[in-house]
Amino acid sequence: MTDTGRMPYQLPFPPEAANEIVIPSPIPEDERVWVPQADGVWFRPLCLNTRQGYWVNLLRVRRAGVLSRHRHPGPVHGHVLRGRWHYLEHDWVATAGSYVFEPPGETHTLVVPEDCQEMITLFHITGAMIYVDPWGKVTGYEDVFSKIEMCRKHYDSCGLGGAFLDQFIR
Ligand code: FE
Repeated sequence: MTDTGRMPYQLPFPPEAANEIVIPSPIPEDERVWVPQADGVWFRPLCLNTRQGYWVNLLRVRRAGVLSRHRHPGPVHGHVLRGRWHYLEHDWVATAGSYVFEPPGETHTLVVPEDCQEMITLFHITGAMIYVDPWGKVTGYEDVFSKIEMCRKHYDSCGLGGAFLDQFIR
């Protein structure tokens, strides 16, 4: 009798199934992979999903203080890789290793403490980030399409090129 324990799955995947994404070391050696977002703030795309309207990226911050105030209409999952940060609306601090779930409906103000040189957090964001003032007045937004546009501009100008971006889009 054939031992099938270590036998790969023998059938084709569904033709509609997307290709996998594998990024062996998400924190890149090549500085150009970081897309500048604001002064002292960068993101690094991992998965930009246009069909379900979410994106997964690393956020890197090398400046202290208030980063942004935003509302989430959809869920967010975060995993802190380096440094730490907190929200003005909560009394906990996310530190390296922490997992955070940000439920839909949450509005919060992200702060990086003065003595933190660098924070890097993996965020999985569905829908949009809606930037607001303290009373909820909308000042801007980001979604997977605006992230793609920012990536395209940056990768075109830094020489990595559009094909580099395409590998993250599903
Ligand atoms: Fe948030």
